[in-house]
Amino acid sequence: MTTHGREIAGRALRPESLMMGYGYDPALSEGAIKCPIFQTSTFVFESAEAGKAFFEVAYGLREADEGEAQGLIYSRLNNPDLEILEDRLCLWDGAESCASFASGMAAVTTSLLAYVRPGDALLYSAPIYGGSDHFVRHVLPTFGVTAIAFAAGEPLAAQRNEILAAIGGRRVGAILLETPANPTNALVDIRAVAALADELVVDGHRPPVMVDNTFLGPIFQHPLHHGADVVLYSATKFIGGHSDVIAGAALGTDAVMAPIRGLRTFLGTMASPWNGWLLMRSLETLKLRMTAAAQNADQVARFLVAHPKVARVHWLGLLAADHPMREVYDRQCSGPGSLVAFEVRGGEAEAFRFLNALRLVRLAVSLGGTESLAEHPATMTHADVSPADQARFGITPALVRISVGIEDAGDLLADLGEALDAA
Ligand SMILES: *Cc1c(COP(=O)(O)O)cnc(C)c1O
Repeated sequence: MTTHGREIAGRALRPESLMMGYGYDPALSEGAIKCPIFQTSTFVFESAEAGKAFFEVAYGLREADEGEAQGLIYSRLNNPDLEILEDRLCLWDGAESCASFASGMAAVTTSLLAYVRPGDALLYSAPIYGGSDHFVRHVLPTFGVTAIAFAAGEPLAAQRNEILAAIGGRRVGAILLETPANPTNALVDIRAVAALADELVVDGHRPPVMVDNTFLGPIFQHPLHHGADVVLYSATKFIGGHSDVIAGAALGTDAVMAPIRGLRTFLGTMASPWNGWLLMRSLETLKLRMTAAAQNADQVARFLVAHPKVARVHWLGLLAADHPMREVYDRQCSGPGSLVAFEVRGGEAEAFRFLNALRLVRLAVSLGGTESLAEHPATMTHADVSPADQARFGITPALVRISVGIEDAGDLLADLGEALDAA
């Protein structure tokens, strides 16, 4: 489907310039400037021979000939809206291959299941998104996979012996990271984890390093450039960006993605054509939205730091020069993003009074949308995390997480100020 050029006068065009048309040929759709929604379950073959050829390639019965694209068969396998969306997502992360999914959780679970086997260990950074946490700790063990956590925000070298002892010589099926981690923005050094993966080869299997890049990607962090093998997204968040769609994506090299794409076909966890179309529309403004939200977050974080009712602010833009994770941040991230967590002075009662007094910022979980959202991690998104782990990861009763949107910054500060007065 790749017909829109990627180069002008020897200059490789930036993803921002390619989101409006890349991978779409108007001549195939009556000249429509925008890709239509291919709301269809199946595709008509021009001949029986063409159908046979499509299936041979789809099932890997033979290698595709030079220049032979996978023909359209059935929308669980492929669909123009998903293929074009996937081509565009590849541009931001420098990936060869992308698979879009019905949700972020579908991307995470399908990718893990493609690589873990009974008897394996799975290594993951904690804290991690609640749904992923539940899946690795409660669902994977029922398939004979043992989940082993290490702490985000603490150097990997200091945890190495403990990790190796917990693995105990088992095959490690995959390694799952989330950086920055939710809700405190603790970082994981992707390069250090990739080096550890090199040491964990068992029976010729090196565990792929999968990075959930939902918080900063695909604008402010590109994990594939730092040694990750798979990038995962909840496209529900910044990529969709308008709090009106649930979707996900996984990206990597053709070879790493092949088992994930293959399993997606059989689990049926692909995105729908309509959601693919919505995400293409969102991608046109992705950079604008994420940049504007990060600028607002900068103002919000600085306002909070200076406020007498605020005890502590977690925001990557305020990471001190001598912070142990500063070097990782400078190497791995090109911007701090727009998730700000902070502790009000007091505890749950003060945090709740603050949340209940907000008027412009809405009280809801999720993040990465055009509107600002606030929530209380200890009793909402991270309610399932044990009290000991909540304490370890800084999820205190006074902690509030704000996903800063693209409203007027002055209006946001007015709302936050009034709500802090009420706290
Ligand atoms: C929301 C989220 C997910 C899950 O995505 P869904 O689209 O809700 O399934 C996974 N990881 C992170 C970091 C998230 O924020």
